[in-house]
Amino acid sequence: MIPIIIKPNILMLKGVHLDSNIYFLKSGRELLIVDTGTGVFWNRYLSIAQQEGWLENVSRVVIFNTHEHFDHVGGNHVFMKFFKEKEMEVEFASHRDTARTLEGGDDSIILSYHYGRKYEPHPVKFKLEDGDLLSIGDVDLRVIHTPGHTQGSACLYYEDEKIMFSGDTVFFNAYGRTDLPTGDEEELIKSLERLARYEVRLGLPGHGKLIDRWTSNIYRILDHLEGL
Ligand SMILES: [Zn+2]
Repeated sequence: MIPIIIKPNILMLKGVHLDSNIYFLKSGRELLIVDTGTGVFWNRYLSIAQQEGWLENVSRVVIFNTHEHFDHVGGNHVFMKFFKEKEMEVEFASHRDTARTLEGGDDSIILSYHYGRKYEPHPVKFKLEDGDLLSIGDVDLRVIHTPGHTQGSACLYYEDEKIMFSGDTVFFNAYGRTDLPTGDEEELIKSLERLARYEVRLGLPGHGKLIDRWTSNIYRILDHLEGL
């Protein structure tokens, strides 16, 4: 696994097998982790982050889940355990709809059974809404609620760097399917139209490669969806 550094302060680890991509954003002594994969390969991700120095001098860890699917949240528990053993507290954050699903451990929405697993519920400290700010050190990230792939899907906009964490809402040349529980194609179209208006130099998706031409990528997806 090759770590990809996105300047100035983000580490991208591409998801192995069915896992989501996993991102680390560090500012001062605070660390944000965006999504945790299925949990199967947690040791690989955290070993690389550690070797590369991303876990040094960290006093606060926040795990943000872009949505409630198991391939993005299945590693939450093992990540939390790893940091607790190092006497670091972990706080979870997500859109409030995803938070409700994770706290209730609703496997029919999380889709744990697709992976032959069961989700262990845990508290989510930050139940975010559209427009909220999530602050990590000196970095402010704006929460954009983007229902469609799931009801609780949200993107995080790092305005100072024009970077968007896009979860399973926007991929390179593709979008997250809408036929799973709480998915809704009309909502997805509305979310994409809204996302197209943001100035983004780099999109960091939940799966696959980075998105460098944000607006034209979204318009291509919208053309495809509207032609269906
Ligand atoms: Zn998903």
